[in-house]
Amino acid sequence: MVLKDKVALITGGGQGIGKDIALRFAREGADVAVVDINLEAAEECAAEVKALGRKAIALKVDVSNSSEVDAMVKQVTEELGALDILVNNAGITRDKLLLRMEDADWDAVMSVNLKGSFNCLRAAVKVMSKARYGRIINIASIVGLMGNAGQANYSASKAGLIGLTKTTAREFASRGVTCNAVAPGFIDTAMTQAMPEKAQEALTAQIPLKRLGTSKDVSDGVLFLASDASSYITGHVLSINGGMYM
Ligand code: NAP
Repeated sequence: MVLKDKVALITGGGQGIGKDIALRFAREGADVAVVDINLEAAEECAAEVKALGRKAIALKVDVSNSSEVDAMVKQVTEELGALDILVNNAGITRDKLLLRMEDADWDAVMSVNLKGSFNCLRAAVKVMSKARYGRIINIASIVGLMGNAGQANYSASKAGLIGLTKTTAREFASRGVTCNAVAPGFIDTAMTQAMPEKAQEALTAQIPLKRLGTSKDVSDGVLFLASDASSYITGHVLSINGGMYM
């Protein structure tokens, strides 16, 4: 139990990678605040956390709204007693080739993936600084490192998130707060299942380990960065991509 009695908040925790992280953390002894724009999904995940014998709360929050986020952190610390770990996982795509990309596509992705992570991080780090302890893990992406046709908005948001990670790591190291990013490659979730089959096959061909990743592959890395096994690691970007980008 490497997270025994820690309190973790996972955004976008209702499904996919975020849900896997929430349940993984609970199995390792953490209490979990499951935050999602989809309350029903968050509640289902929180019920599964409770079934594992840990405390959980489900909150409907749009991470791009800073007042909702500030209220979220207040409620989590009041109800669960602390906030030790933040996982900024909520993310969206609005893929289009650059010349067809509209302002709304750009703004939506930036406001959830980058501003949303900033909102949560800024609210959480106040609590963590006071406690002189914190673990922040931002879920970036391989495309924030290498770019990807059709994802100007998404790749820019994830590259921005890596810059935000490194700055946070520098600003809060003296307070006992570490901040790292995970950059998953292509992971088998709703997000990638929405891609045409041919595109999925073409992707797999480019991966040295010859398969898409799983949510567990990602949560393994996130768990390491959330645990004290990584206490001397901050400002790092951990690639979990089957060797697709080195
Ligand atoms: P997912 O299945 O779409 O789950 C994301 C969750 O976030 C959903 O429950 C979604 O709710 C929620 N969400 C969306 N907008 C939100 C908002 N404004 N506030 C709060 N919650 C919000 O995605 P995933 O594939 O698990 O990906 C999780 C993270 O990993 C994302 O940051 C993604 O960019 C990153 N990632 C994924 C892959 C991949 O291959 N899947 C690869 C690299 C990185 P709704 O469903 O209701 O919108």
